[in-house]
Amino acid sequence: MEFKIERAKQLKEKPVETKLGFGRHFSDHMLVIDYTEGIGWHDGRIIPYGPIEMDPACMVLHYAQETFEGLKAYRHTDGSIALFRPEINAQRLIKSNERLCMPPVPVDLFLKGIEELVKYEQDWVPKEPRTSLYIRPFCFATESGVGLHPAKKYKFVVILSPVGDYYPEGVNPVKIWVEDEYVRAVKGGTGFAKCGGNYAASIAAQVKAEQNGYTQVLWLDGVHRKYVEEVGTMNVMFLINDTVVTTPLEGSILPGVTRDSIITLLKDWRVTVEERHLSIDELMEAGRTGALKEAFGTGTAAVISPIGELHYKDETVIINDFKTGKLTKKLYDTLTGIQWGRVEDPYHWVKILK
Ligand SMILES: *Cc1c(COP(=O)(O)O)cnc(C)c1O
Repeated sequence: MEFKIERAKQLKEKPVETKLGFGRHFSDHMLVIDYTEGIGWHDGRIIPYGPIEMDPACMVLHYAQETFEGLKAYRHTDGSIALFRPEINAQRLIKSNERLCMPPVPVDLFLKGIEELVKYEQDWVPKEPRTSLYIRPFCFATESGVGLHPAKKYKFVVILSPVGDYYPEGVNPVKIWVEDEYVRAVKGGTGFAKCGGNYAASIAAQVKAEQNGYTQVLWLDGVHRKYVEEVGTMNVMFLINDTVVTTPLEGSILPGVTRDSIITLLKDWRVTVEERHLSIDELMEAGRTGALKEAFGTGTAAVISPIGELHYKDETVIINDFKTGKLTKKLYDTLTGIQWGRVEDPYHWVKILK
């Protein structure tokens, strides 16, 4: 598919790169591709960033047939622009769409769309340290009608946002609220899919955590309220004695690209990784005895976010004196080093845009 290009009449002023924050600024153009049953994906176009007109009966507004992805473009010191393992995002979107009975966006179309848009908007890839261009592809039902069935029309859209650190804390430890009332997902549900509906259901717990002075929620499994699942919008890992423990992929958590990359690094470094169920009781006990050495969340937005404190019921444990752990720091430096092209990439994860 060739994309038609409509250039914006007026380009925006670029934001100051040292004060980007996260997801507050958007570039001049976006990619839009339509889907119609019987035709497939058609009319790919790069057009000025702006409102999308919708019918009030548009199905996504009523039944939330919506999925998304999140990845970044990184500016290397030689000026080139790199993506990090974008084909995994493409494959994951296919799985998310399948779960929500939405048509798959073919891997090649996903990659071509993102590459062409990012190249077209290359002046928006920031150069300051610790900045990048966040890429947000998303897919939603556009057919109008309030009867429930899979829609026959969709849009695939990609928007771009120059970003700095995800948390105002930067790469410093955050305080985590262990949530034992609300749940995020259950097996058989949509936990493994990256869909807006999961997030809508999670906001109440996020608000509760913030009201109690915490940055994020640690989710427990939906059946027993016992086993650790994810932290907010990230996967989660714990260094207990010499072993890194993380939740297995069994349908209720998101299979993160960062999670997978970190497991690969750890195994290469001969650190034992256990993908297994970890009960909150075992975790808090490890916190009490000091066996819990380090803890961190992993995700594209924050990359690695150290956890300095866990609060569960009436108990608080502090991890590593509320300081970023050695292994956490080494993982952060290595992974971001590969992404920004400062560290060798033996895994061929980085894709330089030509
Ligand atoms: C996106 C996401 C992650 C992290 O996935 P990455 O591919 O590493 O960015 C983790 N958990 C949830 C719920 C997510 O939506």
